[in-house]
Amino acid sequence: FRGRMALDLRLSQVRTGVAWEEVSIMDEKNIPIRTYQVCNVMEPSQSNWLRTDWIPRSGAQRIYVEIKFTLRDCNSLPGVTGTCKETFNLYYYESNNDREHYIRESNFLKIDTVAADESFTQVDIGDRIMKLNTEVRNVKVTTRKGFYLAFQDVGACIALISVRVFYKTCPLSIRNLATFPDTNTGADTSSLVEVRGSCVNQSEEREEPKMYCGADGEWLVPIGGCVCNPGYEEKGGACQALLTSADISKCCTETQPKTPNKPPSAPQQLISEVNETSVVLEWSAPLRLGGRTDIRYKAGSLGDVLFSPQQSGLGATRVCVSELQAHTRYTFTIGARNGVSQGHTARARESVSVTLTTNQAAPSPVTSIQASDVTRHDVSLAWQQPDRANGVILEYEVKYYEKNQKERSYRIMKTASRSADITGLNPLTVYVFHVRARTAAGYGEFSAPFEFSTNSDPLPLIGNAANSTLLLLSISGGVVLLLISTTVFIISHRRGQYSKAKQDLEEEKHLNPGVRIYVDPFTYEDPDQAVHEFAKEIDASNIHIEKVIGIGEFGEVCSGCLRLQGKREIYVAIKSLKAGYTDKQRRDFLSEASIMGQFDHPNIIRLEGVVTRCKPVMIITEYMENGSLNTFLRKHDGQFTVIQLVGMLRGIVSGMKYLSDMSYVHRDLAARNILVNSNLVCKVSDFGLSRVLEDESEAAYTTQIPIRWTAPEAIAYRKFTPASDTWSYGVVMWEVMSYGERPYWDMSNQDVIKAIDEGYRLPPPMDCPVCLHQLMLDCWQRDRIHRPSFTQILNILDKLIRNPTTTLRRTGGERPVPTLLEPVGGPEFVSVWSVEYWLQAIGMDMYRDTLTAAGYTSPDSLLTLTQQDMASIGIVTPSHQDQILASVQQVLLSHMQQIEEQMQDSMVPV
Ligand code: AMP
Repeated sequence: FRGRMALDLRLSQVRTGVAWEEVSIMDEKNIPIRTYQVCNVMEPSQSNWLRTDWIPRSGAQRIYVEIKFTLRDCNSLPGVTGTCKETFNLYYYESNNDREHYIRESNFLKIDTVAADESFTQVDIGDRIMKLNTEVRNVKVTTRKGFYLAFQDVGACIALISVRVFYKTCPLSIRNLATFPDTNTGADTSSLVEVRGSCVNQSEEREEPKMYCGADGEWLVPIGGCVCNPGYEEKGGACQALLTSADISKCCTETQPKTPNKPPSAPQQLISEVNETSVVLEWSAPLRLGGRTDIRYKAGSLGDVLFSPQQSGLGATRVCVSELQAHTRYTFTIGARNGVSQGHTARARESVSVTLTTNQAAPSPVTSIQASDVTRHDVSLAWQQPDRANGVILEYEVKYYEKNQKERSYRIMKTASRSADITGLNPLTVYVFHVRARTAAGYGEFSAPFEFSTNSDPLPLIGNAANSTLLLLSISGGVVLLLISTTVFIISHRRGQYSKAKQDLEEEKHLNPGVRIYVDPFTYEDPDQAVHEFAKEIDASNIHIEKVIGIGEFGEVCSGCLRLQGKREIYVAIKSLKAGYTDKQRRDFLSEASIMGQFDHPNIIRLEGVVTRCKPVMIITEYMENGSLNTFLRKHDGQFTVIQLVGMLRGIVSGMKYLSDMSYVHRDLAARNILVNSNLVCKVSDFGLSRVLEDESEAAYTTQIPIRWTAPEAIAYRKFTPASDTWSYGVVMWEVMSYGERPYWDMSNQDVIKAIDEGYRLPPPMDCPVCLHQLMLDCWQRDRIHRPSFTQILNILDKLIRNPTTTLRRTGGERPVPTLLEPVGGPEFVSVWSVEYWLQAIGMDMYRDTLTAAGYTSPDSLLTLTQQDMASIGIVTPSHQDQILASVQQVLLSHMQQIEEQMQDSMVPV
């Protein structure tokens, strides 16, 4: 592990106590392993100790102990009530003595009580299936040279399978021409260790170089640095000598052949380093120079690529190749030649080659932008696709601002096409535009500035004059459009009288232009192409798997950490494809990533990337601490307020609206496929079943379909539409309001189909407000055109949330609310929420004025906030947008909770 050092500990060093037994067993791969087992579950008051040998701490200040163990569930052991336990204790004892024979139990300090997790892997051990738990604990060890660990059994049935002890370091690193040594992390989980760097060779200090080693083994906040001495230049973190003219002439005289000897042998050790769409090739000199010193190298490759400094006659053993296609295989050859080599090309025995695949890359900048239909307030822009799109362009972003305002305040608009109508501009004002393209690999660079001035005409110039009056001039890198108005046709003045409302509407339309449509990955012939179009390839070395949290259709689901260059480490879920898969399974598995990668919404599970170039193949998504919604609700039966439950439902419908706006039909919407994070935010996941099951047999089709959640027309004749997703959403509402009860309880699938056909619908769950059950019934309308759309459901839930007093109070026996589609009135509760406090709490107070000026002053108003809205008011940093959106849901939930409490306080006891 980079940044993690294992400490010397083997299980064989663990000494047995009285009750612990050392047992050799076969693991699931039939490899013999040593375990320590204890199982005194019948007798009360157990205290069985097992300890390790002395472990030197090697300068570590905080150590991590990873324990793999199995633990029998007391319920599975007959007749042991009362005495059987399901935990054990982990202790440590610091000592300078590496050979203590006897350590009193009371000298050990407790690290933690360890329990079997809810999540585990099933393993076959011997002839039994066991649940393998992995738990990691850490503790500060600073006082002695080493320590002992101990395990205390208090009456459980445990087998210790492995114990791994390690500490974390920040690895040797060079920043700003200063070297920072391998450094152990600090003693506390929040401590930063200050480290002074030393200047690399041929450099001197500019300002004292310093960095901090964070508790997780990552370097933070580099300050100061060094500069190369005169005559040297910085190259790849080192200072290299600049060539002088004397060097060059010396080099040229040396290349004169003195003795006509033999051609050289092949260059050696060719290595390549790929950086998106460029590659650096480096090699070492041939073993045999042929008795000459005039060696030169020539690089070769198929395709239109650029070699620098040049392709042939290379004196140095390094060449950079650029302008490669993204995500494409290339073979490069380096040939060695000297004055006696024959012909123009090196022969096979005089050359080496390497084959590699370039990375995904963002598109190149948009270069040609044209304007037309210029008026007082509007302009239409059009541009060409970038020269190197490097993938399918998902959208373009236009950034524009008044020239004299610089970039202090600008607007952003997104569009799926290569044109945009910009409205709402000021007359006779010079504007600057930049356009950039986005693919699955991210945004490319913005184009050079494109400037033009609005005029005073209410209508675009028409007729031939329009085109002939537009001139493009190139000035100082940018392009300025001059409007030389010769002929002006004023047809009518009515346009000048646009009502404000209409203008706003137009504006809104332009700010949310051409909604993106989801692309079915199964339309790609090559599944890898599809997945790389929409998902980022992650290097497996950036992933640290911690524990197994579930079992998916294709293999284990684990949690762990992902650290990408220049970013903070984040917690992620890792789904892996189990070994021995078929091509079809691989394709199906990865299709989920190709689908997920196209979405970007706070209520849709976010894809971080995929690992496809090494095994196991993995899909990395954001980590959802509370797991799937149905299990989560069952675990917390009756513990939430109605408003909290409605808050969850709102999140789900908001995600579903986004999917249906993208023309994506989920087909498997159910509480088990909703994941919940630590803030109770619900996100739609599981994009596996959405594929078309066309060529499946009838039997396979009906067994695969989740009958209880599926609309009758989808069961009967596979009519899957957003309206069939609405039906499923009604079932999810029922699951949520009943805390994870199974829809239609233990009725058989056939009975469910029959009952629905006869008009039976699920009754309101206990304490469910009538209006919510009414909404469920609307989702279960037999005729799908009568079911509400997700937009309507979202509006209804928002109204309920705004006026919970009048809408959410009635449950069961009372008279139902006539219709939800009418506006609901009622007293508003006073809230102590403020936009200032909220932004301060999430460290985004720099946007206070921006949000307030745009009217976002209450939790309600935030309900509609989208990424595009933020971009349009000047909140453009993606990480800030994400942070604000993520916390909006949290704000709503706690705000609703507050209202609920006020409602309860205001109730008068009878
Ligand atoms: P799936 O294959 O998506 O059905 O995942 C299987 C199980 O793994 C789920 O039921 C969850 O308990 C768990 N799981 C999947 N993805 C995540 C995630 N992103 N965060 C937390 N748990 C997850």
